[in-house]
Amino acid sequence: MTLRQQQTNNSFWHQTATPAAAVQALQGDITADVTIIGAGITGLRAALELAQQNINVVVLDSHEPGWGASGRTGGQVNPLAHATPDAIIKQLGPVYGPRMLESYVNSGDETFALIDQHQLQCDPVQNGWLRGAHCPSAISELESMYRGWSELGLKISFVEGEKLHQLTGSSAYNTATLVESGGCIQPLSYSRELARVAEEKGADIYGRSAVTAVKAQGDQWQVHTAAGSVTSQWVLFCTNGYTDNTLKGLQKTIVPLISVQAVTRPLSDEEYASILPQGHTLADTRRVIYYSRKDNRNRLLFGSLGMAEHANNADRKRLQRGLQKTFPQLSPDDIESYWGGRLAFTPEVLPHLHEPAPGILAGLGYNGRGVAMGTVMGRILAERVTGARPEDLPIPTTAFKSFPFHRFHKLGVQSAIKYFELRDNLDVKFF
Ligand SMILES: Cc1cc2nc3c(=O)[nH]c(=O)nc-3n(C[C@H](O)[C@H](O)[C@H](O)COP(=O)(O)OP(=O)(O)OC[C@H]3O[C@@H](n4cnc5c(N)ncnc54)[C@H](O)[C@@H]3O)c2cc1C
Repeated sequence: MTLRQQQTNNSFWHQTATPAAAVQALQGDITADVTIIGAGITGLRAALELAQQNINVVVLDSHEPGWGASGRTGGQVNPLAHATPDAIIKQLGPVYGPRMLESYVNSGDETFALIDQHQLQCDPVQNGWLRGAHCPSAISELESMYRGWSELGLKISFVEGEKLHQLTGSSAYNTATLVESGGCIQPLSYSRELARVAEEKGADIYGRSAVTAVKAQGDQWQVHTAAGSVTSQWVLFCTNGYTDNTLKGLQKTIVPLISVQAVTRPLSDEEYASILPQGHTLADTRRVIYYSRKDNRNRLLFGSLGMAEHANNADRKRLQRGLQKTFPQLSPDDIESYWGGRLAFTPEVLPHLHEPAPGILAGLGYNGRGVAMGTVMGRILAERVTGARPEDLPIPTTAFKSFPFHRFHKLGVQSAIKYFELRDNLDVKFF
């Protein structure tokens, strides 16, 4: 299925987002210093950083700002990688390992500081992120994450028993870690507000401008859309789970995974106050994760992994089961709508930075934690453009490496979800 056939972004976030500025499609041939492909969190953060430094930047998106995962995401600001610091240092070595860890540790604060600095109207709440153990045997994973990340200075602690039930409004978990710098935002508003401020600083943003080719032209690059082109020295690919074949080889470096979301009807004041009463976000240790948060107004959002971008029946059933297991005070009838989107999974479960040719950069692969790390990556891409050397960046610049068996990823992901969901259920029963 092509990207064009999967156009709908029917996320609930449209109902409460700050209004979108009108975007035009690119018409005619123009020039810039930098062309950014993808108007999500990554591309827009990069655009903002560059425009602030008076660099002439053009952003192109096949749809509009926030159309991709950035406007559909759960909007949780989760400042932690999926592995322990030891494992990451082993993967990346003594130079880039510690730098990557530092980027993660600071990613939550960096995101909220950016929101504060530019007064982005996106309902930010930084009250902490709870990660619950879905079964007793998962507590050891939380313990090793706690040990490693707290040694780096991340403010992380354990919350247990009655206190945890109180903070979640749920008795589904008896043990959780709490990362204080975590929180949540209205993600479509965040994307639109990044676009607004980037434009105020001078960036030009075009929607309905799918990039079809990038061709070398002397020592510059010409980026083509159906009705125009941009010629620039730098081209930044910020396309994450929606990466297509425009840049040969990039698509195969990641596997697009589907994440799906459900939102409830408006809750009564009493219901709203009893669930996550202090505004924490909640995720768990399941392989097929359950994650939830309130919208900072009057609803609860509940998410998991899925199989179809429109959230098919199996996905909806999984979300309903999850909601009932986690918040039995609510029922499937309380769900008002469903949607989904694509995120990018990498073999190392760490983000990728590529520079396959002089002037071409790509930053992607946040493995479901791109609200904070996409914000960080956008800044890093801008640093490279403004003169930082690859060897001084916090994330290693690597060559494209195809995901093993990439051709079969759809089948593989669907089978894996069924298999891992079964294992999660067995964990809860027996471990
Ligand atoms: C349902 C869901 C829930 C999630 N929940 C969370 C969460 O709670 N916390 C978290 O941290 N992360 C979460 N994620 C992941 C997070 O949303 C992403 O990692 C992040 O938004 C990626 O941002 P991005 O800007 O890199 O890419 P995207 O926002 O996906 O933007 C990519 C853009 O590239 C454009 N594009 C692609 N190809 C072209 C082309 N050829 N020409 C022009 N434009 C092109 C697309 O139109 C798209 O707008 C979730 C993802 C999904 C789908």
